[in-house]
Amino acid sequence: MTPLERALRDRIQAEGPITVETYMEACNSFYYATRDPFGARGDFTTAPEISQMFGEMIGGALADCWKRAGAPRGAIYAELGPGRGTLASDALRVMRSAGFDGEVHLVETSPLLRDAQRAAVAGAHWHEAIEELPATPLLLVANEFLDALPIRQHVGGVERRVVAAAGGLAFDRDGEIVETSPARDTAVAAIATCVAEKGGVALIIDYGHERTAPGDTLQAVRGHRFAAVLDSPGEQDLTAHIDFEALATAANDAGAAVTSVVRQAEWLKRLGIEARADALSRSNPERSEEIASALRRLIAQDQMGDLFKVIAVHSPDWPKPPGFE
Ligand code: SAH
Repeated sequence: MTPLERALRDRIQAEGPITVETYMEACNSFYYATRDPFGARGDFTTAPEISQMFGEMIGGALADCWKRAGAPRGAIYAELGPGRGTLASDALRVMRSAGFDGEVHLVETSPLLRDAQRAAVAGAHWHEAIEELPATPLLLVANEFLDALPIRQHVGGVERRVVAAAGGLAFDRDGEIVETSPARDTAVAAIATCVAEKGGVALIIDYGHERTAPGDTLQAVRGHRFAAVLDSPGEQDLTAHIDFEALATAANDAGAAVTSVVRQAEWLKRLGIEARADALSRSNPERSEEIASALRRLIAQDQMGDLFKVIAVHSPDWPKPPGFE
């Protein structure tokens, strides 16, 4: 039994069944605080860890927005859940060469990952929550951040809970599941409020669906394989798909403008990732196979290209970011 499972069983014994939301929150806080989950030896690999091209496209898009908004002084680069800091490092390289000289603010709760980020990005500032970001124009990115925030599940209008069962944990009910996520709505509203009030743009990249629909999307990943959600609490990554329709509503309600939802493949191609791959291959011929394979992973339909989607939340006074026409 994992230490967290022991604690959750004790808690359920004392207080009764816990919601899926409480379960997911407890598992992910423990999980991210105790390890670097990325890469071949970890549990999963994210787009910025596949290739520098991913962060470069994001840096290019943010720099373009910033310039077209008149290069406001005081604008900052901000990132939610920056992992190892790889995306920030690649994006900032492009943004710095485009003349952006603003501060770097990272929202990260894991002390362990903060250390990794400190090594990747010089001179950054850290925050526990989005609400702590300075009140200034934001150039913000969140890649695979919202999927880790807890969701609620309802079956027939009744909230689904986790109970202690013989030999493990179990759900108290099954049936057609409707998912919501107050934690995500709050996060999106906080981002939207910042950009609506002070200017800026937020690029949100994650897997999910364009329209609200019923379905169970809660999943666990460990060692690059799917696992049972209630097995080994705190030792595997728990995520759920993003409902981009709910996200857009939360952002609109907070006063921000929202773009359409674009598949990752389409978005990266519109930003020129294929030309970037060609250029990288020409200057590093010995790496051309690796570059081609990374490009495929990012844009192929059966890889990340279709499942992952991009949406931008921006100030109504700022131009729409590139790639969403
Ligand atoms: N964006 C990175 C990492 C994605 S994993 C990449 O693409 O590689 C999720 C990240 O969000 C981790 O850095 C994790 O520690 C962080 N995180 C998870 N829950 C969080 C929360 N509630 N507040 C802030 N950061 C959180």
